[in-house]
Amino acid sequence: MSSERIRRLFQTLGTRLTLWNLLISVLGTVTAFAVAYLLVSRVFDAQSNDLIEFRLSQFAGEYATDGQAGVVRLCKVRIGRAQRAFFVRLADGQNRTVFLRDADDWTEFAPESLAGRELPEDMTWTSIHGPDGTELRIASRRLPDGNLLQVGKTLENHRDLLRRFRNSLIGIGAVVFLVSVPVGVLVASRALRPVKRLTATVRSIMETGRFTERLPHRGTGDEIDELVLHFNTMLGKVENLVRGMHESLENVAHDLRTPMTHLRNIASKAIESDAGKEAAHEALADCLEESERVVAMLRTLMDIGEAEAGAMKLDRKRVAVAGLAGQVLRVFEHVAEEKRIAVELQVPAELEIRADVLRLQRAVANLVDNAFKYTPDGGRILVRAVSAGDRVEIVVGDTGEGIAQDVQARIWERLYRVDKSRSQRGLGLGLSFVKAIVEAHGGHVSLVSELGRGSRFTISLPA
Ligand code: ADP
Repeated sequence: MSSERIRRLFQTLGTRLTLWNLLISVLGTVTAFAVAYLLVSRVFDAQSNDLIEFRLSQFAGEYATDGQAGVVRLCKVRIGRAQRAFFVRLADGQNRTVFLRDADDWTEFAPESLAGRELPEDMTWTSIHGPDGTELRIASRRLPDGNLLQVGKTLENHRDLLRRFRNSLIGIGAVVFLVSVPVGVLVASRALRPVKRLTATVRSIMETGRFTERLPHRGTGDEIDELVLHFNTMLGKVENLVRGMHESLENVAHDLRTPMTHLRNIASKAIESDAGKEAAHEALADCLEESERVVAMLRTLMDIGEAEAGAMKLDRKRVAVAGLAGQVLRVFEHVAEEKRIAVELQVPAELEIRADVLRLQRAVANLVDNAFKYTPDGGRILVRAVSAGDRVEIVVGDTGEGIAQDVQARIWERLYRVDKSRSQRGLGLGLSFVKAIVEAHGGHVSLVSELGRGSRFTISLPA
């Protein structure tokens, strides 16, 4: 394997998870085994010392009653010949050996090194070692007559047991190590399977541009499942956004084509005809009107974008709602007359609000304009404002055609129009403008509407 491939292998989450898993298992096992080994060897040590001390007092007792003969007699009593007997040495006041049990058994430990050493007052512990490192642990005690009694024991048995214990632990450790590698790989690959699926889906979306794809939701409720859920929600939002952008673009193209074609026709007709200065002037005036419509549409689109991005600078001032609404309605007086629509204004004179007056006025005007557009002749329109706690609500209601339930959520989208045949003038920007401006003021706008009975739009703003 090339060094690049090895480097990439170690970069994968799967390999890193496996290695961490392995490291933790190994560290855990080694620590547990080390503690167990330490405890067992301590117990063995304490047990050996107890036994040596016990035998020392036994021999001291025999010495007290029968002197050296008592010690020699006790030495003859042997329990369990399989093991090396206890080491027993009797020395005089100058620490010269008087009696050494089974002297031949102990030559490897060179017990003569014990002779001549300074005599202890109390019981002391000494160790001498054989050539292979075997320890002979000895307890020494001064006898009442000044002589020295030493009783000892080799720790061969314990060392054997400990060695076997250690070998078992190493064996178990090796098995744990060998098992934890494939288990780690398995666990890591299972845990990462949904992530791999996620990556595959993302890659497929990148290649095909199909935002309709969704990840299978396993319903386990774990973190990966949560990620899948959020990812699918995000895909849904992106899908809507992309669709919205496509539609917006199509609508903008469509809505720009009509005035631009009109503009071109007027201009080309004016050029082709030789009707004189006056006709040319009229054609130019028509061109101006059309281009103003285009500019207004583009400006509204930009205003909405700015407000939605939070970049709009609001020029907030305190204003009487009655005056603001009254001014709006005045603009529509002739339409009301023409369509015989009864207009009612219910706003308390003292009700005030802090807002960007021009923009709020445009927003209310959009709602009133829609009410006139979509209310048949002889209908009614009501503009009402109330104070509701720390908020002010401005309601624009009509007895018009109403809006079907299934499209009520979409009417706030840019360039969305319910009537695709475009029998009414309009760009589908009015309500998105209202929503963007109201939300830029920290408020919200809502709709209650029933098909064939009318609509009621409510702007709710902080007072
Ligand atoms: P438009 O320029 O088409 O009026 P809007 O964004 O103002 O665009 O409104 C979007 C759509 O919502 C309109 O095309 C219309 O179908 C519907 N609508 C808005 N206001 C009303 C209303 N008062 N009554 C019925 N339909 C309405």
